[in-house]
Amino acid sequence: MNFLELKQLGDRTWYIPGRVNIGYYEENGQGYLIDSGLDDDQGRKVLKLLNEERRDTPLRAIVNTHSNADHIGANAFIQKRTNCQVWTTRIEGILTERTSLEPLLLWSAWPFKAIRGKFIEAKPSKVVFIDQPMAIGDPRFTDEYPIKDTALVAVPLPGHYLDMIGVKTPDDVFFLADALFDPTVLEKYRFCVMLDVTSAHKTLDMIERTNARWFVPCHAPATQDAGELARQNHEGLNWVTEAVYEALTNSGRPLTREEILSHIGVTHGLEMDAAHLLLNLACVAAHLTHLSELDRVEPFVEDCRLLWRKKSA
Ligand SMILES: [Zn+2]
Repeated sequence: MNFLELKQLGDRTWYIPGRVNIGYYEENGQGYLIDSGLDDDQGRKVLKLLNEERRDTPLRAIVNTHSNADHIGANAFIQKRTNCQVWTTRIEGILTERTSLEPLLLWSAWPFKAIRGKFIEAKPSKVVFIDQPMAIGDPRFTDEYPIKDTALVAVPLPGHYLDMIGVKTPDDVFFLADALFDPTVLEKYRFCVMLDVTSAHKTLDMIERTNARWFVPCHAPATQDAGELARQNHEGLNWVTEAVYEALTNSGRPLTREEILSHIGVTHGLEMDAAHLLLNLACVAAHLTHLSELDRVEPFVEDCRLLWRKKSA
């Protein structure tokens, strides 16, 4: 039995704690969810809760921070029941409408069945894009911008996914999506989905510099001080970067990214199924890119394998 509750963080801002923390906000008599949860069951529970606690407030939109299944999986159910809109950035929106692209990204071809479960491939939903005014590559791409005609503000959080945003409410509550994880999760799984490690560090720096009354990560409890959490997440990223580098040192020869993951996984007793393995492989790839940006490793091709070696200092 999964009991949900609405916790108030400001005059018009609440959140629903859970495996994925879901935000809730009201403006001009209309309600907004920030992310929706994993599946129909979660959607049903969220709607029941809102109906009990905020009975006369129609739901206008779900604002999705990014397109990972645990954040968008309940969209379809909620949209069907309430006719609400789904708002998200353009790239994340395309993946929200065509959710088979998520496992396709992992496998780089049409995905096989074992990686198409609900934790990877959510039910698709219909999206209205939030317009990010800057093009990718423009230095102002990371600037904040308003979310449609509301007082909500989108804050780009590069690193974890393609164009993930955080959401600030006028009550000074900052929803941080997956820019930060609970340290116990980092400790247990070691790898977290991360596409761009260099940007993820910059995003953590930005969060450390930001003041807010409440910070709400999706996968850690709400906190009034995100500084310590940001520091632990920097450390978690650095742990993986160094583990990837050490795998090359310890084996004394160049390795493929699969061999690097195997080395780390076996050394630290990590267990993974096919989907989890591909997610971790993407994470190893992101850290290899990061290490190559630091000029510590380089790729080369030999015997039809993409190998990575340390660069001599
Ligand atoms: Zn997530």
